[in-house]
Amino acid sequence: MPTYEEARSIVLESVAPVGTERVETGRAMGRTLAEDVAAPWPLPFCDNSAMDGYAVRAADCSGAARLKVTGYLPAGGTGSAVVTPGCAVKIMTGAPIPPGSDAVIPSEETSVADGHVVVTGRVTVRQHIRFRAEDVREGDVVLQGGTPLRPSEISMLASLGKAFVPVYRKVRVAVLSTGDELIELGEAPSPGTIINSNSPAIAAAIREAGAEAVLLGIARDDVESHANKISEGLKADALITTAGVSAGDRDLVREVLAQMGVESRFWRVDIKPGGPTAFGMKDGKPVFSLPGNPVSALITFEAFVRPALLRMMGRNRVVRPLVKATLAGEVRKKPGKVNFLRVGIEVRDGEYIASSAGDQNTGILRTMVLADALAVLPADRTSFAAGEKVDVLLLG
Ligand code: AMP
Ligand code: MG
Repeated sequence: MPTYEEARSIVLESVAPVGTERVETGRAMGRTLAEDVAAPWPLPFCDNSAMDGYAVRAADCSGAARLKVTGYLPAGGTGSAVVTPGCAVKIMTGAPIPPGSDAVIPSEETSVADGHVVVTGRVTVRQHIRFRAEDVREGDVVLQGGTPLRPSEISMLASLGKAFVPVYRKVRVAVLSTGDELIELGEAPSPGTIINSNSPAIAAAIREAGAEAVLLGIARDDVESHANKISEGLKADALITTAGVSAGDRDLVREVLAQMGVESRFWRVDIKPGGPTAFGMKDGKPVFSLPGNPVSALITFEAFVRPALLRMMGRNRVVRPLVKATLAGEVRKKPGKVNFLRVGIEVRDGEYIASSAGDQNTGILRTMVLADALAVLPADRTSFAAGEKVDVLLLG
């Protein structure tokens, strides 16, 4: 049985990016850049003013100076103004620095009377000028393929005139719930029925990862129903099933997947919760069989599916970084398996403090709702003292 890390490695080694497309830069938020981007021109494009004020020659301002205002450069202005000795040109933020000038004096540090500007403070060469290429040089690779696009990257792409951007295609992920006890959301529950909460929950997790969910509904506990739904699911880029993957009488998922040519890479992982998780591949497409229990389904999605989807969408970093948090109270576990402990996170004096979210039984969904993070407790350890630092995976 693979460990948590081994199982995750098996998954990540099995999948690869699914393809790329070009999208409008303004709509590329959250997508992953598919190619390196080099600057076609420098930023700034030309020397320009960082302030509203006066373009001057610093040498003219060594003492208290009175300079004749000989021109005006508004933002976007490209007038023929030149700064000659003893003179100044009024300039707005962003306007190109006129020839002859080597400094800008902010308006606040001046007074103006009869066409002259009076300067009292010190003026140094180059002050308040944004120089050509000081931010980005022409040809610089400013963004690397595999980078997720945030507002900052969108800003950079737009500044470099990139109206369209190559990104990885969104992965289409089929979601199949299985079980005779399941009823669809909207139907009234009765004893013995369970609302299919996994489909919307897993679909939400898929969308949070930036992929597209394709909902297949419920497969009933017979081979034909499973086979029909699974063959539909295999048309997507990836398939996630929930439930029916343990060793129960009617746990048909693995059997039907095998019949349909899905090659099993592992079944069961040495973790808690989420042990009965299976993973296989069919024609380059990953198939994840997650446990039915809603808590286990979400935790195993986080542990194995999310990194895989991010890799399929070209992300350079696919695993959330583990951060250290201080345990607020003692925690005990059995030896042998990595445990994912649902914890609430507080920030105290700039440090993360992790407190158990409560009952860690896999049947308790409430503590999943209360959890901000999963503490990843190593397999070999059994007790963790209050005040000890542990690794946590911050959710969301
Ligand atoms: P199983 O993995 O089939 O043994 O299911 C484990 C538990 O998860 C059972 O209590 C199921 O009723 C529950 N379960 C299975 N599928 C779902 C689902 N789609 N939504 C909510 N609960 C489910
Ligand atoms: Mg079942």
